[in-house]
Amino acid sequence: MEEFEKTLSWQQAAIEAERCLYCYDAPCQAKCPAHVPVPEFIQSIRSGNLHGARTLLQDAHPFIETCGRICPEEAFCQSVCTRSKIDAPLRIRELHRFVTDSSDPSDRMELPEATLGRVAIIGAGPAGLSCARELRVRGFLCDVFEARQVGGVPSQEVSTHRYPLEVEEREIRFLTSAFVANVRPERVTDVKPLVAEYAAVFVATGLPSETDMSIEGTQLAGVHHARELLRAMKSGAISGAGNRVGVIGGGNVAIEVASMLREEDPTRDVMVVYRRGIKELKAFKKEIQEATEIGVTYQFLAIPDKVVGSRHVEGLQVTQTHLCGEDESGRCRFEPLPGSSFIIPLDTVVVAIGQRVDEDVFPGLARSDSGLISAGENMQTSMPGVYAGGDAVHGAQTVVEAVRDGKKAAEQIASFVAGGE
Ligand SMILES: Cc1cc2nc3c(=O)[nH]c(=O)nc-3n(C[C@H](O)[C@H](O)[C@H](O)COP(=O)(O)OP(=O)(O)OC[C@H]3O[C@@H](n4cnc5c(N)ncnc54)[C@H](O)[C@@H]3O)c2cc1C
Ligand code: SF4
Repeated sequence: MEEFEKTLSWQQAAIEAERCLYCYDAPCQAKCPAHVPVPEFIQSIRSGNLHGARTLLQDAHPFIETCGRICPEEAFCQSVCTRSKIDAPLRIRELHRFVTDSSDPSDRMELPEATLGRVAIIGAGPAGLSCARELRVRGFLCDVFEARQVGGVPSQEVSTHRYPLEVEEREIRFLTSAFVANVRPERVTDVKPLVAEYAAVFVATGLPSETDMSIEGTQLAGVHHARELLRAMKSGAISGAGNRVGVIGGGNVAIEVASMLREEDPTRDVMVVYRRGIKELKAFKKEIQEATEIGVTYQFLAIPDKVVGSRHVEGLQVTQTHLCGEDESGRCRFEPLPGSSFIIPLDTVVVAIGQRVDEDVFPGLARSDSGLISAGENMQTSMPGVYAGGDAVHGAQTVVEAVRDGKKAAEQIASFVAGGE
């Protein structure tokens, strides 16, 4: 599948790097959850030292190839670039990508003897693998337990038009071969046996399940869960979706699956059905723009009542809504308009209304009301020696935030093992 975005040319990167103001307080760096030294790597590009730029990125951030492509710059570094007060913010994420695309990925980091102990990491996503790398760099060995595929959500579900397979494989192969002692392909259900066997445990299991939609008709053939469908398509299977697809939801997952279905078959009608308006879509703007460019359409202000059909989906009955003020959290409220129901003719319905943790695992670990694993400032859970981070603790976040958690957990685990806490 062809990538949406092309890497910058040398000339474009040089022009972009020249625009950097090298602010003394570097707001871009402070806003990057992984604390990538942005002005320094841009300075290295400027002086033609791509190897140096790569080293700066790689030292700060285990998932540089991934974030060079899919980090939502509008939420982080670029959003605070001082240059936007003059003309436009620097294209920092694209410069980040330029470095990873234009330099040798096989550079190894210096590793000490692994003498400090063995740590179990549950979940091989960005949080888990970042923690493994940071622990290995400090002198620990890590066994990583993974229920599905090493790499977590980016490897399993992010579409190849944004995150090509060769890039994903290169990064994950490097991380696992250089920093992980053993990958154990199993679903862990209880941390207690691992606590007995390892010096510490890090739970980084993300949000492996999807929220069901409690409306009539979801049992019909042709109704799918969005992330399950993404995983199938990413692993090379045909989606089996028909010619008229309705995707229910307004977040990143809804936009991702809509784009991927449209990419799979450009003649297919793919419509995102969302209960609020265009301004309230929760997905990142760049992804909405890309989806729209490839022909994804939208039915805004429509709340699904039921999936219509006898055995297979024939349509989605929706009621129109109108927006009416804000709730306590500042989120836009909506109300259905009585008597405004209509049916959207469809042969496939994809439900993308939320992600959640597995609640049937890890007895003994305290959880929040929403089922997320509770962890304190120091990332320790209710069980001594067991740490947790990433989406499993904070709910749906981003790759670079999971990286931040993995790095921080490694620091906390190292001091726990050293008896510092
Ligand atoms: C469709 C989609 C698109 C996204 N797009 C972007 C994007 O463009 N940019 C961005 O920054 N973020 C994006 N995100 C969010 C980002 O992928 C997540 O925030 C990030 O992957 C969280 O990392 P994590 O390590 O906490 O969890 P995960 O990536 O979910 O990794 C957790 C791992 O744990 C494994 N696991 C779960 N339970 C168990 C168990 N009991 N035993 C063993 N293993 C287990 C899972 O199989 C998984 O591999 C997207 C998310 C989705 C769903
Ligand atoms: S990781 Fe993301 S936030 Fe940090 S510098 Fe790269 S693009 Fe910006």
